[in-house]
Amino acid sequence: MRSKFRIKLPLKLLVVSTAVVLLGFSASNWQAAVKAADSTLKSERLHYELTLPKATTSLQNAIQASITPTEDSAWETVVIKSGDTLASIFSNIGLSASTTHAIATLNEHTRSLRYIKPGQKIHVLLGEDSNLRQMKYEADITKTLLIKRTEDQSFDTQVINSQLDAFPVYREGVIESSLFEAAAHSSIPENVIMDLASIFGWDIDFSLDIRKGDRFGIVYNELYKDDVKIRDGRILAAEFINNGKIYRAVYYIDPKGNGDYYDESGKSMRKAFLRSPVEFSRITSRFSKKRWHPLLSKWRSHKGVDYGARRGTPVRASGDGKILHAGNKGGYGRTVIIQHGGRYRTVYGHLNGYARGVRSGKKVKQGQIVGYVGSSGLATGPHLHYEFRVNGVHRNPLTVRLPEAKPVHESYLTNFREKTGVYLSMLHLMETTVATNTN
Ligand SMILES: [Zn+2]
Repeated sequence: MRSKFRIKLPLKLLVVSTAVVLLGFSASNWQAAVKAADSTLKSERLHYELTLPKATTSLQNAIQASITPTEDSAWETVVIKSGDTLASIFSNIGLSASTTHAIATLNEHTRSLRYIKPGQKIHVLLGEDSNLRQMKYEADITKTLLIKRTEDQSFDTQVINSQLDAFPVYREGVIESSLFEAAAHSSIPENVIMDLASIFGWDIDFSLDIRKGDRFGIVYNELYKDDVKIRDGRILAAEFINNGKIYRAVYYIDPKGNGDYYDESGKSMRKAFLRSPVEFSRITSRFSKKRWHPLLSKWRSHKGVDYGARRGTPVRASGDGKILHAGNKGGYGRTVIIQHGGRYRTVYGHLNGYARGVRSGKKVKQGQIVGYVGSSGLATGPHLHYEFRVNGVHRNPLTVRLPEAKPVHESYLTNFREKTGVYLSMLHLMETTVATNTN
């Protein structure tokens, strides 16, 4: 998944706070808001946006209280400038070199103080003896290092991951010429629309299948700290209507903490295999019963697909599995073979080299790089030779029916419906509104 944002604090808290926000906002309010927004923007009725109310003040205060020490007034704040070091900052405050040394060499957390950057903040609290009692180092917007003097005159450290407040927003668009143009028109950030394309990328080919009039709706998080928007978060639910066919996806984190996208019934949006193990490639030879082999100068069947790509282009495992073979294999040259469960096996030939750590017996994840495109073995130029075998029989990787990735576990289905219903209902509301307007 392409969302770079990783939530550092308990996901549970995030989910809880999101739920608080959403549950506090009834469906009828939603409907009213949708209608109101719609009537004011009639000419552009598919481009309104809705922002949900912010978290309750008490919740925000509770979060704030957990990260703010009580003696706020006595703290001194230093904004780090270019060229500053911990030593120079401490010296300016009047702290001794031995204090600097004690802090800097304390543990792995305080070692980060060697890499302070301009713009970051250090807060210090001095005692009546002018010695350091506490300090806080704000490494980034979500991470603060707290250092406290202990009774035995040593120091204790604590890393505080303060959480960003997530507020779901709903946006939608209609495609006139391209997905990106539609997204820009609806003020949907590029990374969010990239995520949308990757969520539905298993079902919709975004370079070939898109039609004028296709519509989409997205519920995604905007992440705030102290009422300032920091960045966009994950897509929580999305809908894409392609050529009249509706696709829906919702994000679900199961009780074990694994998050993924599913359709409304809990089926995975992913397939167990990628259709192509190389991005940005072109197919140079298809699966066939008979073809002329240029190097062997004879007719042979071609039991795979060749992807022409530049030497060094990453080759990805098309599914989760275990490496069966990583080494030379006759005319295939440098080859990786992956076993996926009992039935499936994939072969990647003519590699230039292997990715680090790739050797037989190792487990690999779908999308993990296993090697790089090359021309080892019998190959006229750099390309990947890719084979897909089902129960030992070669199948055409371009047309074989790919098995689906695992659905939500049966025992989690109630939990799945409870957690995702609110986001899915936001999408259904869009559908209702659109239907009403066309009447
Ligand atoms: Zn081939």
